[in-house]
Amino acid sequence: FLARGRAVCRHNGLLILSVLSVIVGCLLGFFLRTQRLSPQEISYFQFPGELLMRMLKMLILPLVVSSLMSGLASLDAKTSSRLGILTVAYYLWTTFLAVVVGIIMVSIIHPGGAAQKETTEQSGKPVMSSADALLDLVRNMFPANLVEATFKQYRTKTTPVIKSPKGAAEEAPPRGIVIYGVQEDNGSRVQNFALDLTPPPEIVYKSEPGTSDGMNVLGIVIFSATMGIMLGRMGDSGTPLVSFCQCLNESVMKIVAVAGWKNPIVFIRGVLQALLIALATSSSSATLPITFKCLLENNHIDRRIARFVLPVGATINMDGTALYEAVAAIFIAQVNNYELDFGQIITISITATAASIGAAGIPQAGLVTMVIVLTSVGLPTDDINLIIAVDWALDRFRTMINVLGDALAAGIMAHICRKDFAQDMGTEKLLPCET
Ligand code: ASP
Repeated sequence: FLARGRAVCRHNGLLILSVLSVIVGCLLGFFLRTQRLSPQEISYFQFPGELLMRMLKMLILPLVVSSLMSGLASLDAKTSSRLGILTVAYYLWTTFLAVVVGIIMVSIIHPGGAAQKETTEQSGKPVMSSADALLDLVRNMFPANLVEATFKQYRTKTTPVIKSPKGAAEEAPPRGIVIYGVQEDNGSRVQNFALDLTPPPEIVYKSEPGTSDGMNVLGIVIFSATMGIMLGRMGDSGTPLVSFCQCLNESVMKIVAVAGWKNPIVFIRGVLQALLIALATSSSSATLPITFKCLLENNHIDRRIARFVLPVGATINMDGTALYEAVAAIFIAQVNNYELDFGQIITISITATAASIGAAGIPQAGLVTMVIVLTSVGLPTDDINLIIAVDWALDRFRTMINVLGDALAAGIMAHICRKDFAQDMGTEKLLPCET
């Protein structure tokens, strides 16, 4: 029994450590809540997690670029277009199904009924319009500067400005309590203050194209996929770059070393570690290296399929996010006692699918693109505030679904395209480091 236990631990060492880390993290988190720590003390506990995120993020760029370029370049034109069309069709279909499941469940359970509001409070927070969100999505697809795309994404900036009588706009000053004097009184510090009771000025929101921190994975995926297809067409003259990408891909996979599937349970067990990392990081992009490792090593998926399906999936296939956006929109409608007709539910299904495609694989990206879904059916975008408080937890679970959706897609594509890949086996340019 002991020998068997030792063998199980040896084979599943990383998985067992990941499960233990999640359990210890939860217990420690609940204990620390009772200790009333300062933000600085909390940041010390966050530090190991921050390091893990940094290490995973470091691998995203070489992994996405090398896997897509070498993966597509090593397939013939017919196989790559078949795989591409099947994968994108599969992603759209499963995302749409996720939305439909969400809509049916939220309509049956009706969670917003218990929390109906009498009035709609205005939070005054600036919110991006859905047109701006769509324009950002398209801008991100075509980055003007590839180097900048590795650390910045396009994101429209919305700032509050005061509308003056002449129509000119100026920066809005902060309002609220005004401190007008500080004096020392018998050694103690006294502050005199007054409430600013002047009527609030008319505030309008000014939107202008801008950027925010974070890798533009969508732009990099599109660039790498196009380069991969072109390299495949170039024949022998493209071989040096293809070889470079294959070696880069192999070496990244070796750093991470930190379809023969039979049934879904066995398959899911194979990607359990990736699901735990998704739970811990709330980022399907950061989980990408681990998803690769699980699929290649545990589920024995053809690496050429994983190289294409996973980076594209981590960018456009977010079943959990799509389901969440549709459910959240209907929840907000229920809270506002707003009856949605059938046409509006169809609109929510389509826009939730589109918004999930536009969401980046980073923490809480779905919350930002939800504005597209809400405005499409005239729901108040300010009510996103109702969800913000619980979103940190929801995000972890929808990220797990997003990662699982990509992994299952790789398994299904490996099954559907097994003949193409069996025939194509002899044509892939294998390098010494791959053989
Ligand atoms: N955090 C999710 C992911 O990385 C995206 C979202 O916010 O829905 O997949």
